[in-house]
Amino acid sequence: MAALDLRIDLDYARQWLDGRATITIENWTGSDADVVPLEVGRLMKIDFVLAEDGRALPFEQSITVYSDWTLRQVNAARVRMPASVTPRSTVRITVKYAGHLVGAAETGMLYVRERLDPAFTVLRSESFAFPQIGEPSNEAQRGVPRRDFTFSARITVPDSLVVASGGEVLERQVANGRATYVIRSRHPVPFLNLPIAPYRVFERGGIRAYVLPADSAHGEELFGVIDRALAWFTTRYGELPRAPAFSVMEIPDGYGSQADLAAGIMITAAALQRVENRRELYHEISHLWNARDAEMPSPRWNEGLATYFEYRVAADLDGGDYAGTMSSYGTWLCQRARANEKVTSTALAQYGERDMAGWSYTVGALLFHALDTTLGRATFDRAYRTLYQGTKHGTVSLGDLERAFVSADRRAKPIFADWVHTTRWYGLLCETS
Ligand SMILES: [Zn+2]
Repeated sequence: MAALDLRIDLDYARQWLDGRATITIENWTGSDADVVPLEVGRLMKIDFVLAEDGRALPFEQSITVYSDWTLRQVNAARVRMPASVTPRSTVRITVKYAGHLVGAAETGMLYVRERLDPAFTVLRSESFAFPQIGEPSNEAQRGVPRRDFTFSARITVPDSLVVASGGEVLERQVANGRATYVIRSRHPVPFLNLPIAPYRVFERGGIRAYVLPADSAHGEELFGVIDRALAWFTTRYGELPRAPAFSVMEIPDGYGSQADLAAGIMITAAALQRVENRRELYHEISHLWNARDAEMPSPRWNEGLATYFEYRVAADLDGGDYAGTMSSYGTWLCQRARANEKVTSTALAQYGERDMAGWSYTVGALLFHALDTTLGRATFDRAYRTLYQGTKHGTVSLGDLERAFVSADRRAKPIFADWVHTTRWYGLLCETS
């Protein structure tokens, strides 16, 4: 997907989402395509699909279970294009769809628990608040290239509610007790989350905070926390490619958080309320100092780096116990790894292709902790600064990461061998403890 234009009207009384999505899609496959596969929610229906010139396109839709994920049920559609779409060319289609927005907790994605609740809801891809491209299988979905895309949105809600986003709010039109938010991306985004709640909005410079009513007393304090964290990273890793203009969007605990400079930082209520939970915000802010992953699918070592950073920043700014936390983190990883043969036999470098990137948070964090311990903070920071400043306008691979640390200090080489290319870390960390 290269661009998304959304018009969504939410009727909370009827629990009804009425949507229209204009999607610009690139044919990423190597061959001509006659059909565009689409998915909407299992309680949604596609009313019609239009070509760019306004012509109605023929399509079929049916409630379908993923071929390799028996708990994931969707309404899958196949839209027939009037002419073959050649590789790398794009088409734009408009999908009119409507139905109930429901969570997907039964799939194991416990954080996808949204419904149209005036206290809080979120429009995002996981619950098909807008159509997704691809065949109904986990493997096919993973194969869809996740390119950054631009978005524009017109979201209509009761006027007591605020639509939050990482984008620019161009306009808020109010009529008959309803408010329409007109939003546009500032820069291409890797994902789109539009949380909706009776938010209080705090703004300073390019930074906007959407705070839930129960926590509005914490709004100003939040800016102090953000400023200190931004300064911490800027001092060590240098300037971002652009002034940090981003949104922090508070979500209730348990909804999962995602963060991106352009798409917005979702943080849970817990992160706002308790000092020790600011780590969550530090984790997300650290992602601002990541270039995009070159690998597809990525082992997501950036998650390990962000986890390492969250403890380090918390120690520096809030007096957290870095060494103690890393040591108990190691013990915890060993306990989990002992019970999981895949982890003790799959190297981090393979986590992307083996669908194990969730382990990057722990194994990756301890990789960076090992580099920190052996190389020292000054060398660590110099290596990462050089890497980030050299790649921030493009992409970064695991190979780039290794080269950056090894050229800063040769002693990084065996650390990458133990933690990234083999699972020797298990013997080193766990068989001595
Ligand atoms: Zn993260």
